[in-house]
Amino acid sequence: MTKKLSPKKPRLVVANWKMAPESAKDGAKIIAAFNRRKVSGVHVGWCPPAVMLSSLKAKFRAAEFGVQDVSAEQSGAFTGQVSAAQAKAAGAGFAVIGHSERRALGEDDALVSRKVRAAIAGGLYVLLCVGERERDSAGRYLRDLAGQIQASLAGVTPAEGKKIAVAYEPVWAIGAGKSAIGPTELLETSRFVRKVLRETLGAAVGDKVYVLYGGSVAPENAGELLSGGEVDGFLVGRASLDPYAFSAIAKACA
Ligand code: PEP
Repeated sequence: MTKKLSPKKPRLVVANWKMAPESAKDGAKIIAAFNRRKVSGVHVGWCPPAVMLSSLKAKFRAAEFGVQDVSAEQSGAFTGQVSAAQAKAAGAGFAVIGHSERRALGEDDALVSRKVRAAIAGGLYVLLCVGERERDSAGRYLRDLAGQIQASLAGVTPAEGKKIAVAYEPVWAIGAGKSAIGPTELLETSRFVRKVLRETLGAAVGDKVYVLYGGSVAPENAGELLSGGEVDGFLVGRASLDPYAFSAIAKACA
């Protein structure tokens, strides 16, 4: 049985803006409106499109920014890619890696694990995304989820594991028209993810890893997912573009 762990304090809430908004100016309006809501007692991370990073960091120096992806390569002829060092120089402190929307474009666990190690080598923290595409009543999805975590962390040492947080994001719960997981299912799965992290990185490191949930988080469900799901915060897509909704979610985490 998995030991009951109290959630990490402060909790962590991360905004994944994906390919929105249209301009850095619009992004700045979202962060400014969020800041006016005076959220405290929670870590907040913003992942705008990489082209907006420098200008947003210049405007909001105290805010934590991340990139939505990073190259597995350190440097060289890789058209269109951004290295961890470049992301860091532009103001990122962390990188989201292995998001299901990137996996759907062909990214596999082997590439994800190279990106994880490249990000850490380049001085970034990592928010590793994992999650099943669908569930089956026999529970085979849990075996696949364990395999995804182990393979995505292949070659990561326990010391490097201290620079990693994991976002459990069931693909079937992400995006418009989808519904979030229920608290009972989240509790079962977050405990399972924790168990696999303890086995993969060692108990001491595995217990300390932040485990977030992502998939249709909204102000209406944030409280019950936190209290029932034993997670350390959220990775938020759509609702993070609305400063009022995102601040309500962050306040639920505080
Ligand atoms: C995501 O893209 O990581 C996500 C959780 O999206 P949404 O909150 O819109 O379901």
